[in-house]
Parts: sequence; structure tokens; C-alpha cells
Amino acid sequence: MKGSLKERGIRLTRQRQILLDLIDKSGKHLDAESLYQLARQEDPKLNRVTVYRTLKMLKKGGLVDELDLMHFGGDQHFYETRLKQEHAHVICLRCGKVEEFFGEPLQKLRRQIEDHFGFNIVIARTEIGGYCAHCQALRARELTEAAALAAPAAEPNPKPSRRRPAAAG
Ligand SMILES: [Zn+2]
Ligand SMILES: [Zn+2]
Repeated sequence: MKGSLKERGIRLTRQRQILLDLIDKSGKHLDAESLYQLARQEDPKLNRVTVYRTLKMLKKGGLVDELDLMHFGGDQHFYETRLKQEHAHVICLRCGKVEEFFGEPLQKLRRQIEDHFGFNIVIARTEIGGYCAHCQALRARELTEAAALAAPAAEPNPKPSRRRPAAAG
């Protein structure tokens, strides 16, 4: 890997190496703040500004990919290694779980787009938002509960109330 970094003209300082290793090894999609916390365990002298600046540089150098993952985390950005095979991110909009879809359909789509537009694709990023199986079940229950709450509660023996509710309008 170091050879390819040198080809790209990127000098690996200690902090760059720490961050790159963390991103490579995590296999997850970590945000800058989590990476900062992890990096500090390796080197307590690292500060937040350096970590953020280093991430920006790694991204610019094409070593890591920056993702917003359907903005599930608001303005948060997430980082992952560019060494992985191209994949689509499937994000649950309720719990934020991220699945990775590797598969032939992505390569096919790439080829079709290249043919159709005579385009040379350098990078493709596919994000799919929806609800995971677990959250679908929870959502169904929440909707039922919400509907039950919205319906007027039928009291068995309603006491006549002295005060009449103010007429609307
Ligand atoms: Zn979910
Ligand atoms: Zn990914």
C-alpha cells in the first residue's frame, strides 16, 4: 500500500498513518469526531484541528472517501477507505444502520452509464435510504399506537362535564 501512496505523492506523516490505519481497520463508517477520539488513544498529543485537516487531505489525495450517508447524522461526514471494492450504502433512516451492497448490478450500472453518455466514470457513490426489517416492524407498531392515541378515547361511563369546551372558531 505504501508504494501506491508514494505514487500519489503523499508523504505519510505519523498522524496521517494513524488515521488511515483507523479507517482501514474499522471497516465501518466513522465520523470525524469518533476518529479523533480513537486517534487520541494512539497519540494523546493529536488535536482536533490536526485530525480534521488530515482527514481533508486524505480525502483530497484519494485515499479515503467522505460520505454523508443520506445525512442521517445531520451535517456529519463519515470516512471509509478507498481500497474497498465499490459498493452501495444502504442506510436505515430510523436507526442509522448502514449495510454495504457489493454486487454485479453496480458494475452493470456503471457500464451502462459509460456506454450511454460516452462517459468515463472515476467515482460512483450510491446511497439508498429506507427502513431495515427491524425498524419496519417497530414503525408498524408505532403507527398503530399513534392511530390508537389519535382516536377519541371512549370512556365507559362519561361523567357530564359542567364546563363546556369553548366553541372552536
Ligand atoms: Zn433500522
Ligand atoms: Zn462503505
